[in-house]
Amino acid sequence: MNYGHALEFGVRLPIGGADPALPVRWARLAEELGLDLVVVPDRPALAGPEAWTLLSWIAGVTDTIRLATDGHDDTARNPAMLARAAAGLDHLSGGRVELGLTAGTGDDVDETIDVVGELWNVLDHGLARVNGRRHRLAGAQKAAPAHEVPITVSGPDPEDPDLARLAGTRADGWSVPLTDPAGLAAGLRLVDEAARGAGRDPREIRRWVTVAGRSGVHAGSVDRVAEGWVVEGWAADLLALVVEHGVGTIVLHTDDPDTLTRFAREVVPAVRAGADAALPHGAAGVRVRRSTVLARRRSGIDYDGVPTGLAGVVEPGDLAYARLRSGYLRGGSPGVVLQAATVEQVVAALGFARRHPDLPLSRRSAGHGVSGRSTNDGGIVIDVSLMNTIEVLDEATRRVRVGPGARWTDVANALAPHGWAISSGDYGGVGVGGLATAGGVGYLAREHGLTIDHLRAVALVLADGSVVRCSDGENPDLFWAVRGAGANFGIATAFEFEADEVGPVAFAALTQDARDTARYLVEWGRVVEESPRDLTSFLIVPPPRGGQPTVALTHTVVDSGDPEIVLARLAPLAAIAPMYQQQVTITTYADIMASASDDTPTSRGEPVARSGLVHHLTPEFAAVASRVLRSGGIHWFQLRSVGGAVADVDPDATAYAHRKPNFSLVVMGSHPDVVDEQWALVRPYLDGLYLSFESSLRPERIDQAWPPRTLARLRDLKATYDPDGVFDDNFSLTPSRHPEASTR
Ligand SMILES: Cc1cc2nc3c(=O)[nH]c(=O)nc-3n(C[C@H](O)[C@H](O)[C@H](O)COP(=O)(O)OP(=O)(O)OC[C@H]3O[C@@H](n4cnc5c(N)ncnc54)[C@H](O)[C@@H]3O)c2cc1C
Repeated sequence: MNYGHALEFGVRLPIGGADPALPVRWARLAEELGLDLVVVPDRPALAGPEAWTLLSWIAGVTDTIRLATDGHDDTARNPAMLARAAAGLDHLSGGRVELGLTAGTGDDVDETIDVVGELWNVLDHGLARVNGRRHRLAGAQKAAPAHEVPITVSGPDPEDPDLARLAGTRADGWSVPLTDPAGLAAGLRLVDEAARGAGRDPREIRRWVTVAGRSGVHAGSVDRVAEGWVVEGWAADLLALVVEHGVGTIVLHTDDPDTLTRFAREVVPAVRAGADAALPHGAAGVRVRRSTVLARRRSGIDYDGVPTGLAGVVEPGDLAYARLRSGYLRGGSPGVVLQAATVEQVVAALGFARRHPDLPLSRRSAGHGVSGRSTNDGGIVIDVSLMNTIEVLDEATRRVRVGPGARWTDVANALAPHGWAISSGDYGGVGVGGLATAGGVGYLAREHGLTIDHLRAVALVLADGSVVRCSDGENPDLFWAVRGAGANFGIATAFEFEADEVGPVAFAALTQDARDTARYLVEWGRVVEESPRDLTSFLIVPPPRGGQPTVALTHTVVDSGDPEIVLARLAPLAAIAPMYQQQVTITTYADIMASASDDTPTSRGEPVARSGLVHHLTPEFAAVASRVLRSGGIHWFQLRSVGGAVADVDPDATAYAHRKPNFSLVVMGSHPDVVDEQWALVRPYLDGLYLSFESSLRPERIDQAWPPRTLARLRDLKATYDPDGVFDDNFSLTPSRHPEASTR
């Protein structure tokens, strides 16, 4: 029987000799020779470097080869430390670690698996707890590896029932030295039975054999190497193990580098070719999902019909799900995340999603959507975060192409060496895909406009799966719509921007007394409006707490590196109210954008954010705003300056039509009704909203996001390009009954 595993070959490294660097040289040689993995015995009693130290060293001098251990002694190393060592090295090595445990050495392998599994289980929230016979975890911090590190149990006797039980019920691999094929077959049957008894698919368990390089496979081939190497015979023996017994991993144990070289160069290709010819899935194998993964599947999704060839298919039982399920501000539990790394993959993923019309469909670039609609409950997420390249297309015109999954900190870093920047936002972790389809209100807004004002072309996958490029000259109607309502029309797969020349800039963080909040707001608004365009300022007023005086925190960028100009621009701001703290630096736009966390978003629950645009901070508005701040109903209040270059653009030129207001207001709170009660007070002073800062799905928000003429045009286009409402996850437009409707 063959289990459909991708065929892989490794070498057991020589440990314990006089030269501690020998296994390192072997590992490099194995990688050069194209082998898949090296195996290091983890036995404290052995002379030579300790296993995890050695593996770390090897990880540092190799790039691709996987790093497997074999054996573990829980009296010498606590399993919790083993879990941390393996997880840490897995991250450092780019997901190359495999863990081997040995049955029958006195180690309590069951408990080791309990401890390791619990510490790695970040799919279930909370601290790690195990109450074992030898080991206890009483609320330990979990720390997952970078990928699903397989656990293989090994033993000297293929027919050992305990080894078979462990492998069949608890592990991902079963590993034995090759003795005789009959013993191997008997052991494999035991593993299959144990797996079935535990409700697992026997294919979940990879079968490893270690073969001795100098002694051949069968007793009859003992002296083959010494006799001059009969490659064909050895390859045939190994192929039989693969085809007849389902062995997936073959590890060579030898102390002879020539044997290793010939094994890799001659035997391995021959076995692979034989497997390709003999097996339905060839040496590449098929993907077998763990029963633990199957158990967490959601209903209504044709998991078996997911297109092959996607960069990733992440289900609720997969480790990567913990990283991808939620956004920065909203918890999610989608049924599957389809990771697309190319346009073709996006098209395939969208085709699959369209076969599930009753399930929610979300699109995710960097997962920082304030509305949080880039995830959902039980539906499908098409994740394009891997489409994150940034390339300069033309130096002369400063034309750059950026993938939707790039984050603005990455864009800023890539453009900095050219002396360029694109005004984006105030946080480098935000993604290009979400922001550049909505607007982009950034620290350079008054001088350089919105992010979308720098867009020159966008590549889109439309609802019907067609791939289009839009610009002023190609599909201009779509290009108009994408700049402000992009999420309604497709999945953006690339953006072409014209960057601006931006030199050193000043970044000022001021903390001022704002106990007369209304006065502060009016004054700040006045100073901003009177300032030259090279100043853009964002203001946060934290709701006053516990009798503390209200403070105003401003982050202001002056698009100049000249200290005289910077001081002249900041002086009126500083004069508004007494200063508690101030920090002004001449820096780069890339440095300002460097504020991006790589931490996994662990949000739960729903964000409650309300957005509105304000023309002027009048005393009337300011009085109401300061009441809202004191109400206790909101926990976040921010005003951003817009205006300037943003207002230069004709409101009809893009679907971001509210060009005239000078300020963008966002408040956040915990409960929608409480926030809305406060929001109703400021509502009369607002003119439109910026949908990137709004989380409400109420229909009137659509009317506030786009003025009537813009909305009518958008609805016509929606009828043409997405009549079935495939892209309805975020501020969904109702298609008009346009004559062109349903032509696509
Ligand atoms: C901490 C923080 C700071 C922010 N600061 C600013 C700021 O200064 N200025 C500003 O303008 N905004 C800001 N935002 C808002 C931000 O611009 C939007 O929320 C934006 O949508 C996030 O983009 P993303 O790709 O990270 O989001 P995601 O969560 O991945 O996507 C959000 C939504 O965008 C749409 N979308 C995503 N990718 C695509 C795609 N490839 N094609 C089509 N539609 C897509 C989908 O509707 C999706 O639901 C901030 C948000 C946060 C959380």
